[in-house]
This record gives sequence, C-alpha cells and structure tokens, in this order.
Amino acid sequence: MAESQSGELFSTKWQEASNRGAAILSHLGEHVPLLYCLEAEPQQREEEQKVEEHLLFPLEWFLFGEDPHVGLEKLQQCDSGSSSQQCGRVFKEGETVYSCRDCAIDPTCVLCMECFQKSVHKSHRYKMHASAGGGFCDCGDLEAWKTGPCCSQHDPGTSVAMETDECTLDSGLEERAQTLFRVLLRYTVDMLVWKETDELQEELKPKVKEDKYFCVLYNDEHHSYDHVIYTLQRAIRCDQTEAQTYTALIDREGRRAVKRGTLRSCQQAKDSIRSNSEQLTQQPLRVEILNTAVMAHQIFALRLGTWFQKIIGYSVGLRQVFCQVALDPCVDGDKLSLISRVMLHDAGLYKGARKVIHELIFSSLLMDTEYKRQFAMKFTEHYKQLQEDFISDDHQRNISVTALSVQIFTVPTLARQLIEEGNVIKVIIDTVMEMMREHLDSNGRFHFQGYNSDKFFRVQVIFHDLRYILISKPSVWTEELRVKFLEGFRVFLCFLRCMQGMEEVKRQVGQHVEVEPEWEAGFTLQMQLRHILGMFQDWCSSDERVMLLAFQECYQVLMSCTNQPFRSEPTDSYMCKQILHARSYKVSQEPVSIHLPISRLLAGLYVLLCQNGAVQFLPDFVDPAQMNFIELAEQPLRCIVLAAQVCADMWRRNGLSLVSQVYYYQDVKCRDEMFDKDVIMLQIAASKMDPNHFLMLILLRFELFEMFNGNCSSKDQEVLKQWNRLTEEMLYLIIIIVGERYVPGISDVSKEDVTTREVIHLLCIEPMAHSSLVKSLPENESHETGLESVISKVATFKKPGVSGHGLYGLKNEWLKEFNPFFYHYSRPQHSKAEEAQKKRRTQEGSDKALRPPVPPPFCPAFSSMVHLLCCDVFIHVLRRVLQKAVEDRSNRWTEPMIQRALHLVAQALLEEKTQLQGSNPEDVTFEFSLKAQKIGSEHGKSLFHFLSKMKSLPSLEAQKDMITWNLQMFEVVKCLREKSGPVVSFPIHQSKSEESVQDKEKAERKRKAEAAKAHRQKIMAQMSAMQKNFIESNKMLYDNVPESSSQSETTATVESSRMDVDDSRVALGPQQGVCCTDWEALTCILCQEEQEVQAQAPAMVLTACVQRSTVLTQCRGKTLSVKDQYYPLFMPPDLAVGTHTGSCGHVMHATCWQKYFEAVQNTTRNRLHAELLIDLENGEYMCPLCKSLCNTVIPLIPVEACQFDYDSAELVGQHLTLSRWIQILVSRIRGLKAAREADNSEQGADQATALSVEEQADFRSILSFGVQEPPKFCHSITEMLVVCATTVHRVGLQMAPNDLCPYVPVMSWNTCAYTIQAIENMLQEEGKALFGSLQNRQLAGLKAVVQFSAAQRLKSSHAVVQQHFANMLAVLLPVPNVEDTPSILEVDFFHLLVGLVLSIPVLYQEEAVDLQPSAISTAYNHLHVLHLVTMGHMLQVLLTSHDCAVIGGAEESDEAQAAAALYSFVSQHTDGLRSGVSGFTVAETVKRGVLPFLRSAALFFSCLTGVPPPEELSIVAESPESQLPFICSYLALPCNLFQLFQDHRDVITPLMKRWCENTAISKALKGEMHIIRYPRKRNRLIDLPEDYSVLLNQASHFKCPNSSDDERKHPTLCLLCGVMLCAQSPCCQVQLNGEDVGACTAHAATCGAGVGMFLRVRECEIVLMASRTRGSPYPAPYLDDYGETDPQLGRGNPLHLSPERYRKLLNMWQQHCILEEIARSLEVLNVMFAFEWQML
Ligand SMILES: [Zn+2]
Ligand SMILES: [Zn+2]
Ligand SMILES: [Zn+2]
Ligand SMILES: [Zn+2]
Ligand SMILES: [Zn+2]
Ligand SMILES: [Zn+2]
Ligand SMILES: [Zn+2]
Repeated sequence: MAESQSGELFSTKWQEASNRGAAILSHLGEHVPLLYCLEAEPQQREEEQKVEEHLLFPLEWFLFGEDPHVGLEKLQQCDSGSSSQQCGRVFKEGETVYSCRDCAIDPTCVLCMECFQKSVHKSHRYKMHASAGGGFCDCGDLEAWKTGPCCSQHDPGTSVAMETDECTLDSGLEERAQTLFRVLLRYTVDMLVWKETDELQEELKPKVKEDKYFCVLYNDEHHSYDHVIYTLQRAIRCDQTEAQTYTALIDREGRRAVKRGTLRSCQQAKDSIRSNSEQLTQQPLRVEILNTAVMAHQIFALRLGTWFQKIIGYSVGLRQVFCQVALDPCVDGDKLSLISRVMLHDAGLYKGARKVIHELIFSSLLMDTEYKRQFAMKFTEHYKQLQEDFISDDHQRNISVTALSVQIFTVPTLARQLIEEGNVIKVIIDTVMEMMREHLDSNGRFHFQGYNSDKFFRVQVIFHDLRYILISKPSVWTEELRVKFLEGFRVFLCFLRCMQGMEEVKRQVGQHVEVEPEWEAGFTLQMQLRHILGMFQDWCSSDERVMLLAFQECYQVLMSCTNQPFRSEPTDSYMCKQILHARSYKVSQEPVSIHLPISRLLAGLYVLLCQNGAVQFLPDFVDPAQMNFIELAEQPLRCIVLAAQVCADMWRRNGLSLVSQVYYYQDVKCRDEMFDKDVIMLQIAASKMDPNHFLMLILLRFELFEMFNGNCSSKDQEVLKQWNRLTEEMLYLIIIIVGERYVPGISDVSKEDVTTREVIHLLCIEPMAHSSLVKSLPENESHETGLESVISKVATFKKPGVSGHGLYGLKNEWLKEFNPFFYHYSRPQHSKAEEAQKKRRTQEGSDKALRPPVPPPFCPAFSSMVHLLCCDVFIHVLRRVLQKAVEDRSNRWTEPMIQRALHLVAQALLEEKTQLQGSNPEDVTFEFSLKAQKIGSEHGKSLFHFLSKMKSLPSLEAQKDMITWNLQMFEVVKCLREKSGPVVSFPIHQSKSEESVQDKEKAERKRKAEAAKAHRQKIMAQMSAMQKNFIESNKMLYDNVPESSSQSETTATVESSRMDVDDSRVALGPQQGVCCTDWEALTCILCQEEQEVQAQAPAMVLTACVQRSTVLTQCRGKTLSVKDQYYPLFMPPDLAVGTHTGSCGHVMHATCWQKYFEAVQNTTRNRLHAELLIDLENGEYMCPLCKSLCNTVIPLIPVEACQFDYDSAELVGQHLTLSRWIQILVSRIRGLKAAREADNSEQGADQATALSVEEQADFRSILSFGVQEPPKFCHSITEMLVVCATTVHRVGLQMAPNDLCPYVPVMSWNTCAYTIQAIENMLQEEGKALFGSLQNRQLAGLKAVVQFSAAQRLKSSHAVVQQHFANMLAVLLPVPNVEDTPSILEVDFFHLLVGLVLSIPVLYQEEAVDLQPSAISTAYNHLHVLHLVTMGHMLQVLLTSHDCAVIGGAEESDEAQAAAALYSFVSQHTDGLRSGVSGFTVAETVKRGVLPFLRSAALFFSCLTGVPPPEELSIVAESPESQLPFICSYLALPCNLFQLFQDHRDVITPLMKRWCENTAISKALKGEMHIIRYPRKRNRLIDLPEDYSVLLNQASHFKCPNSSDDERKHPTLCLLCGVMLCAQSPCCQVQLNGEDVGACTAHAATCGAGVGMFLRVRECEIVLMASRTRGSPYPAPYLDDYGETDPQLGRGNPLHLSPERYRKLLNMWQQHCILEEIARSLEVLNVMFAFEWQML
C-alpha cells in the first residue's frame, strides 16, 4: 500500500506543479543518488526493487494519472489489436537467423528462429546463418517479403492492416505522456552524453556534494583480456577471480567501476592502472573518476532506456508520442533533436549504453513507417559524421549506430525517398571519397602503397550502404528520382575516375622488382564495387532516358581521363594491302593499368542500349562523328595483352603481385566487371571498325605485327618462344571475340541461357558437387547464381554414399554445346575439360574432333563482326600459322597454336554454312571457303592446301580428326554453294561415306585398333582397380588367417575321414567335436618372415587396443572404480563399464614388434605435437601396416588340440555326474585351502598331512579322471602374456601398472567376456549371422583374446586363481569359507561363465608337479560349469521378468510344462512372484532372455575349443529365437532348456532354495532394488530430428546451467545419452583429476568411459573424443538437398538427417572404432596447431 500511496503522492505533486518537468527532474535529482552507487558492490535485486518503488512507479502513476495497473488495463481494452505486429526481436551474436531465397526482397531480410518455425518459409528454399549480432527480426515487415511477411504469431489477421497507427490515446494521457517522455528522454540523453565527471547540471545538483567517487575502467580493443587482468591485480590489489570477473564485465558492458572511495584514493587507483597498463602496451587503459552522483544518474538513465521500451510496448499511441519527442527539435538552444544528439554521441558511448540505445531505437522509431522515414532522414543527414566517428572508433561495427543502415536503406520505398529527398547516393559516395582522399596521388588517382588495412576495412563498410540503397531497382521513375539518381551516378563516376588507370605497372627488365607492389587494396575495392557497378547498370537499364544520359556522362568522363597518354604520333602500318593509321604503343615497354572501371562501365551500358534498342537514339546524346572506337578499345586491349604477356612469361621479373592481379582479373570473383567487359569493349570496336583494321590493331598491340608481316626474324629461342605463346593468346582472343556471344544485347540470349552455358562447361570438366558449382559461378547481389533454375535441365544428380557427396553429371544431349575454348576456363580447367571430352568421345567410338558449337546469331548492332572471319588479314594470319606447321619449322609453331587456328577455321566454316543455309547462296558475301582456297593457290600455298597437307603430318596426329572434320566442312560448304548436295543440313557422318574406300578401310582398321587398345586399357584399369581394392580391404587382415568357414570344413573332412568320427558339431562335453582351426604359419608384417604358432617357437603377437567401454551399459553415467570397493571379479549385470580389446589383426614377431616400438618411441618423442596422436607413456603406437591406434599386443597361443576316446569319455561320464563333480570340487577347494593354511603354519610339512585319510582321498579324487602336463611356453610368449595382461589390467581398472595385482587374471577373463558380448551385440544389431559374418581381423582378434585369457592362469599365482575360482563358484554353490557372495541377481552370468571355465584347470595344480586336467576332464568341467551357470542365469531371467506381460497361446508343450513346474517351485520359495502365469509365458520370456548369453557362450567355446559350429548358425536367422536349438546342440544343452532342471533335479533343488532365499531376491521382487531385465536393451545413439532446424531450435532454448549471462554459448549434444552441454565455455569447466576440463570432456569421462561422440549444434559438426587430449571433428550426419554436409553452416541450405550416415556413426561407436578414427584423422591432418580438446 505504501508503494501506491507514495506513487500517488508524487504524481499529484508533479501534476499540480507549475513546471511539471522541473518538478520531476528535481525529484530525480534528489532520489537517484539515494538509490544508486551506495556501495562498491550493490545488491542488485534490492536496488532494483527500490528503484521501481521510488522512481519508476511514481512516474508510471503520473503517466496514467491513476494506479498504473488500472490505467494499463483500460489502455489495453480500448487499444486491443493495435499493438505492434512486427516481431522486432534483436539478435544476439551467434543466434541462428533464417532468410528465404524464394520470398525475401534481399538477403538482409531475416527471421528469428521462432518466427521462422511458424512461417510459410519453413517449406521454402530457406537459408540459415549465424547472426553477427545487432539487427532484428523482419517478421511483419510488409516490405521485406514478397510473400508470407508474417508468421502465424505476428499475423494481424486479414482485416486489421498494419496501418492501425491512428493514435487512440485519450488526450489527457497523451499530454502527460508528452510531458513525461520529453523530460525523461532529455534527461537520459543528457546523462549519457554527459562529459563532466564531477559536476551535474543545475537542476540535478545535490544539496550536499559528497566526497565519494568511483574509479571506472573502460573497455578498449587495444588491450587483451590478460593485460587487463594483470593490470587490475597489480593496481587495485584484487585477486585473480575478482580481476577475471571485472574484466569479463568490462568486456561485455564496456565499463565497470573497479574502486569506490575518496577522490584521492580513486586518483591513486587511476594512476596505478594507467601506469601498469602503459608498461605492457605503451598505451594506458582508459580510466575515469566519476562522482557517485554522476555515476548514479548515468546508471538510472540507462535503466530508463529499458523502462521506455516496456512503456512504449504497451500501445502504439505511446510509441508514437515517444517517437515525436525523440524527433522534435529541442525547444531550447541547439536545434538538434534528442535522437540526433544521441546518434552523434554514439561513438563516445560505452558498449552497454550503446546496446540499450540501439534497442530503444529498434523498438520505437524503426517499428513505424512514418517515424522510420523521419529517422532515416536524420540518419542520412548525419551520415558523414557518423561514418567518420565509426572509422576512428575502435569498437566493432555491430555495436555502432552506423550498423542501423541495413534496417533503413534496404526498405525499397524508403530508399527511393532518401534518394529523392536526401540525395543519399551522393551523400554516401561523398563520404567514401572523403575517407579515401588521403590515398590520392598527384594525378588524382588512388595509390594504396603503405595503406592502413584496418582503417581501409572500416571504410569499405560504407560500400555496403550503397549496395543496400541500390538493392531494389525502381519500377516507376519520377523526374526527381532521375535527377537525383544521375547526380549520384555522376559522383560515382568521379570516384571511378580515381580508379581508372590507377596503380599502373611497367615491365621490369634485367632485375627483379625489389618490393612487390601493393595490389590487394585495389582489388578489394574492385570486389566491393562489383555488385554496385552491376546495380547501377541495372537501374539504368530500367529507364531508357536514364540509360542514355548515363552513357553520355560516362563517355564524357572517359574522354576526359588523360591516363596513359600516347607518347608518339600516329603512323601507318601496312598489311594485305590495308593501311592502319594508329599511334604506336607497346605494353611491354610502357606503363599499363589493370584498373579501368569507366571503360568497362561504358561497355556495359552500351550493351544494355543494344539490348533494348535505345542505341538508335544514341546519336542524339553522343556525336557519332566523335566516337572513336579505336580509342575506346585501346585501354581494354592493353589490359588483355598484359594478361597474355604475363601468360607468356614476359613479366616474370615483376613478381607475384602482378600474377595475382592477372589471376583475379579473370577469376569468377571479378571477371564480370573486368575481363568480360574488356572483351565486350573489343567486340563493340570490332563491330564498328573495318575488320582488317581491327585485326591489324590487335596484331600491333600483341607486338606480333612485324612477325606476321614477315619483316622480322629471330634466332633467340627465348624470343621465338614468346612469339609462339603470344600467337596462341592472340588467336585465342580472336576465337573469343567472334565466338563468345552469350551476353544479352550481343546476341538474343536470356540470363538463364548464360547460366546454362556456364554450368554445361563446368560439368564438361567433371561431375561436380552443388557447392563447387555455386563457387564457380558468379553470384549476383542476392547471392544467387541462377543455378537452381537450370541444373535439373542440364544435369542428373547422383546421390552420395555413406561418405563423400552428391554429384551432378552433364546430360548427354548438352555435350554438343561444349566449346574447348570457353573463355571462362582457366588454363588447368581448359586442359582438364579437353582431356575429359576427348576421352569420352574415344569411349563412345566417335572421332576426337572437338568442333566449335554453333553460336547464337549476333544482334543487329553486332552482326558485322562476323566479317572478321573472312577478311584478308584473318586469312593471312591463319595461312602464316599453318604454313609454319606444314613446313615443319620446329620452334616456329606449337600444337596449341594449330589447335586454335583449326578452331578458327571451323568457326568460319560454320558461319558460312549457317549463312548459306539461311539464304540464297548468291546473296551470301561471306566467302571464307572461297578465299581460303584461292588466296595463295598459285604457289600451292592456300589455306586449304595447307590444311590438306597437314592431314598426313605425323607431328599433328592428335589434331588429325579436327583437320579431317574441317576438310569435310569445306565439302559441305561447297555443296551448299553449288546446291549440288542436300540443301538443308548435311550431317557429318554422311560425308564420311564419301571418303575413298581406302580411307574408309584405313579408318576402320584404325578404329578397330583403337577399340582394341581402349578395351585393353579398360581391362588393365579394372585389374589395377581390383588390385587396389584388394589391397585396401586386405590391409586390415593378415593374409594367413584361416578362413572361418571354408578352411575349417576342408580340415574337418580330412580329419573325419581319417579318424572315423562323425563330424560332431558339439563344442564341449563328452561329445565334443574335433578342433580344426589352429593358427597356421603366419607372416610377420615387419620382417616378412613366416613363422608357425607353437608353444616353443618365438612368440607371434597381434596388434591390439584395450579401452574402457560403455557400449553395453544399462546404466549410463554409472562409473566403477576399484577405489570405491568395486570387486572386479563380479561384473554387475548392468555392464556399466567393461574392458574391450580389439585388434586390426596384424601379426608380428614379438621381437620385431619390440624393436619397432622402441624406435617409434624414440622418434615420436621429438616430433611436434606427437603427444596428440599417441600417448607414449601409456604404450600407444600405430599399427605399422594400417596405422590403427594400438596400446598393446596379444600373444598368439596355439589352441590345445583335444583328441580323446569317446568310449572312455562315456565311461568317465557314468561316474562323474554333476552331483559327484560338485562334491569333488568342493572338497578339492577345502583341501587346497587347508593345505595352504598348514603350509603357512608348518614349514616344510607335507601338504596332505593336514587332512584326514578320507579327506585326502576326496582331495585327490579330482585327479583320477585324467590329468596331463600343461603346455610349456617359451620365454618370449610368457613375456608377452605379461605385457598384454598388464595393459588390460591398467586400462580396465584405470590403475598404475602392476603385474602382481591379484586382479590381473580377473581382468583378462573380463575383457574376454566383455569383448565377446560386444561382438554378439554388434552382430545382433546389424542382423548378421552369429558365425561366418565377422571380418577376418575381428575373428583373429577374438580368437587371440580367448586363447590369451585361457593361458593367463599359467602365469598367475595358483593360490590367487584358486581363490578367485572359489569365490566365483560360491555364487552358485555353497563353498566353505567363502562369504559375502553376491546374489544371483547381482552378477553377469556370462562373465561368471568365462571366469569359471578359464580358471578351473588351476584346481588340478599340485605343489610339486604342474598338472592340468586331461581332455576328457576338461570336457566334463566345461559341461558341468555351463549347465550350472545356464540354470543360474535362467533363474535370474525368470526372477527379473516376473512382472512381464503375459503372452497368449497357452499350448501345454513339454517345455511349457517344465517351465510351469520351475515357476511354481520358485514361487514357493520366494515372496512376491506373481501367480497365474502360464508355463508358455515363462518359457518364452526365459528363452528370449537367455539367448544373448547362449550366443555369447557359443562364440566363446568355438574360440576356446576350435570346434566348428553347425552350418545353420552361419546363416542369417529369420528370428534370433529360431536358432536356439542349434545353439543348444552346439553347447551340449538340451533343446528344451527347462529339461536341465529336471535332469539335475536332485542337485539343483537345494541350490535353487539357497538362491531364492537370498535377501536380495525378495528386495528385488518388492521393487526395492534396481534390476536388469533380459534380454538387455541394446544401446543406440539418440534419435535425431529429420530437419536440422528443429535441432537448432532446441539449442536456441538451451540455457547454461552455470551462468545467466547472454553471451554466446556452444550447445553441444551428447549422442550417447542426449544431454545438452555448454561446451568451450569457462562457466562450465570442472576439475577432473586435478585439471580444468570443459563440460564435454568431463561428461565423456562418465558417459562413455572417456569416449565421447558429440554434436556441436550451431557448428553442425560431430566431435569425436577419446581421452582428455584427443579429439577430432567429423562431418555431421546431415545433408542438404544436394547431398553435401555443411560444416559451420557455411552455406546455410536446409539440412536433413541421413540415416545411413548416422548408422555409420553408430557402428563406429559399437565397434569401438572412435579411437581409431581420431588417430587416423589426426594423422591425416598432421596437426600443426594443437586444439585444446580438453576444454571442449
Ligand atoms: Zn521474430
Ligand atoms: Zn513473427
Ligand atoms: Zn519463402
Ligand atoms: Zn618379424
Ligand atoms: Zn593393423
Ligand atoms: Zn552422454
Ligand atoms: Zn556454461
């Protein structure tokens, strides 16, 4: 209540005051200093609350004249619907914004994410890109969009138009608003631009001035972050974190108080900061001391900025009042409006203040058409001043008020008004001119040597504004617009005049240039102007009068340019009875410039005049008698000759600068306003001049005139070479001048035709990706190339595979358009295209003549140009060229020269043919063929003669087809002239029939020979490709690994025939089949020597990589650590973290590997950044053959061949039942333990003495079923066993290496079990057969791991392994002296199986003798262990799936009955099992749950015993369950698994009771314990949306959990679990093992056990991570419609998920190949710059 009372109180007081403004102001003067700046570190929330209560609320009360809540409600009721329908959202830096290529008026029209998602453009050809910050959403701006201007959210509906701008405020409110806004806005502006630091204006002065000051530090771009932190720590004695906070705030806000105190203490701080910072960079930091009162008012002024935004957002009326106030000229003193004052002070404001002001402008003046116009006028008025300020300011452009230009200049109607009323074109160009004046030389031309690139960069920004203004050409011209446009054009010409002929070069002879001349600035300018020049021409073309006047202006300016005057008087040159009267000039001797914008602009305008026919009025504007085309063509011709001479290596002493200029002159980025226009100018001249004279001029300028006149010769090889090259270039130029007609105005073509032709020629080089096409085509000002409209017409799209990108290939019907001398080909492109097309023609069996395509006819204004092709000088030139070839004066001619000459002949003949076909032969004056045959014929030296002779020249074999084609064309033309042949068309292949029979036969022979040759080549190519493929794919395997199926079968048949045993496919137990897959002789990849794998032979090892893995986890994010009392012997059933061992399958001698490894260690240590690639400390190395990353080797252990007598096996079986076996085991364990204890107490006593006689018998009875000596391995194998086991232990448990740790054997068994489970999971995921579908390398690796793990017991302490065995067995059986055993719900049974099977042989160990079970004993051990474990696992499955859905179909089979019996038994002994579940349901659930275990067991035993599995398991099953019988039979299990329980009823019943009684079971059944269900769920990568913008949208809502600032964040998605992280940001760094790491690294440590796969959403890029220091980028699985990825969203096309590519990523993860992929990509990149992956 207090609040509203004080509000009302003040408001009434002000209302009644005589001068309300003064009253309000004095209130502020009194209260503001009482609320702000009271402490050094204010409590922001409390402060804000007080401000609202004491200042803002009373102001609002005053505004509404009542309680603001009430007033606002009233306002909104009568004002509904008229609030702004523009979005106006202001973009932050990095925010994704969208434009629409179909609908946006220009590319600067953008939508925010939210509007875009709700707009029609979502289904259009949209573009996305990251905003540079500043600027706002154009949703709702009718002028920005051709269609769909509003999203569904900002659509005002159909009836309400945008112009609901009528102010509907009641008059009282309006008046109060005016008063209030006027005083507050003035206050705000005054305070922001306030320069005094100690005093306030009169009205605000406090009664008592306090001696309290702030020392304020300002942001600048001169000092780095670290500098400021360092300085602060020194100067104000704050700690590191404090200094960092200050610095971050200063960077963000632009300023920050760093000290509060008396004037003196602040002065000290200031001096200290300045001196400390000066020491670092010679330039002090900007520091000011502000009185607290001043500071307080400044802070409140900014607060008012946001308050205004809120208030004017309430109603259009209030907004309008605000705009009026802002634009009103001030009543007192200066004439400037408030908005002008603040604009003009922009560069002096600090960052935070600017931001607030700009946002206020966005939300007020720019939201309203009329006020936008008024603001734009003010902006234009101050334009020059603002740009000057910006250029001397060091802030970035996005926080400068000049950046607002894009918001106003791009509005078409506004742009036109600004031209008409503000003469904005002139203003802008004048501004640029002003800025660039310093670069003018004495001739009034630019000269950029030694320019300041930073400042120059800032100046260039002004050109953007010119582009914005010109972006849409007017549809209607007013007289005013014409006048102002032409005025602007004139100023523009003055600017160009400073460029015409600038930075001229002179050929350097003798010495190389000492300093490379500056050229980049000039070309930067040219590139900036490129679009502007195009737009000026575009504007001109839309109005005939403007066009003619512009031409006139341009012509006059060009004529007035006195650049590069001639130095000599005109002279006469004679050739072919022609005289050319011209002045001499030599490019090779006199200065020449590449910059001729005025000549080129004139050429452009002339073509436009021709295009729309206005050229007929030209004589009214330019006196035709005065137009001297030789003069007009002079400069462009010089420039082209310069390029030719550079090509001919004549300018190599002028250095790289010139080479670069010539390159850009013809490059796609510049050519349309440089090279292309020069060609046009020459074409104009050619059409106006006598053709002979024109060609003579060309010869003169190419400095070839005398040579072609036969007046000079040289023996200097260098000179001859130059002449040859120049002749080539000169002929090429003539080809271009007569042949290149694809310019609207020169011939009757459309823009689409032009693009079509460009695309055809690009695709003639090779099939191309969409993005490469786009890059090779010139863009217009809207970044459009026109590609879209033609691509489907000329090309077919080939989709990409899982890597690479989609390609476009040219359709065959367009091949006839191919011109090998296409003028936009670079030299490499030219030869590539020529080669490709010749190759294609050869493959098709056609001739290799690359004839010129038929060009479109010239427009009337240019039609006379064709006479170039039949004038005397032309024939003369060609004759001279061909003559040299015929006379074969080597080094006087070159093949390219002949090629060009032949092309010209062909062009001429084509022209003649076209003319003859088009009209009566008598009327055709184009007589090339006649002249070619006649001139010189008296001496047998006519062009035709030469051509005929050339046909048989061996040196011109390659041109033969082209010569033949030309000769045929002569025939065709002859026929047409004589009307003897078919008149209409005369296809070439018909003329072939006229060849003589001999020719024909010869041709046929040749064709056949060539076809045969081609065939041979093709086969060779195929062979070599196959070989390559073979090598590629076999790189991964080693040659000698036994084939999984075929090999084993052959061996098996041999064995069976010999041994007379049926090839039993049972892997274990008394029926165990014959082992047949042992290692064969292997070749060491290092020394290439062969070696058998034998126990006593030197060890062979396999490359291997051990890594922790969470691929199978059922509990993502859980970590296991030995430090946390985790006992690795029992793998928990959630498989949280496993240890995977993979191999690339390459084999080496252990000794070879050791040598290699040492060598690698020594060399890599010295390599830069090698530690990024491989972690030497942890034993990493690259496989010498395939470069896979490895960290250990697995020794190859020979499989123990098992052969036994099946009869004795059966006999043993009768005695060794399960119950007897259990009994024997238990007593053996007890005995061993007793013996060990006795051993410890009584030194040297016989171990058996501690036992009773009976016990003794039992203790030894285990041995009675057969023992044998264990295999003895040679030293090197045992050594490698230790190496491998230590690595597995170290990596798996993340512990220091320790080969004595009792967990060493355990980890070997674990990695064996886990690796098998991972493979089983992968095969299931990929739908592959259990056997036979593994790659050889995977199979070899797996087998090696199993054998290695089996051998591990031999190297470990027997007592330790015996203890492990006892502990594991205790899960299933009561074992004496073992306690605290986990329940059957708390272990993974497959790990248990592997552990038990691999450790049981140790029980046979006697102290004095090494013993192990015989084959038969082993068989029974395997059988009993498997049966027991399987039963345990079945019960585990049953218990964990007790509440699963009931499956229908209660058919009471044996199986179902047995299952029902089991279920009821379990029900009796547990509490909480559901009743009434059918036996069928139980059977199905258990079978499904137990299947992965059985599949893994089958893989395990097949590797362990080497018995081949039944063939049925090598084919892909319809359903996994259907293979259960085969798996069971292979594993010696009954087909009906429940039978087990009945077969072993006596043994299992007490055991089951024991299992069920465990308290863990009842807890689980009551749901008090997390349980794992079977089959376990298979992990996949998270689902990604199909449309990438959906993902961007999600990321845009992302909020960093640790900070609230609005700085740009990098949302990064974990693809394993779907969590969104804040990457690369200090806010989310955490400590990991005492090191600061980024959010991703920290997350990967738990989520993926160190391995990570992340999607950086804004960058559209995958990041693979492994360990703290390694990572690599990888393309995201999103493709655009052209089958290409878009890293960094550089192109911004719509992106869609590629399921195949995502699948590939999934496979990479599941197969543990991430580490390998990273190592490979790092190796390829050969990183020079270390990226700090751990900070991600
Ligand atoms: Zn929006
Ligand atoms: Zn919208
Ligand atoms: Zn659209
Ligand atoms: Zn070797
Ligand atoms: Zn390898
Ligand atoms: Zn994750
Ligand atoms: Zn963060």
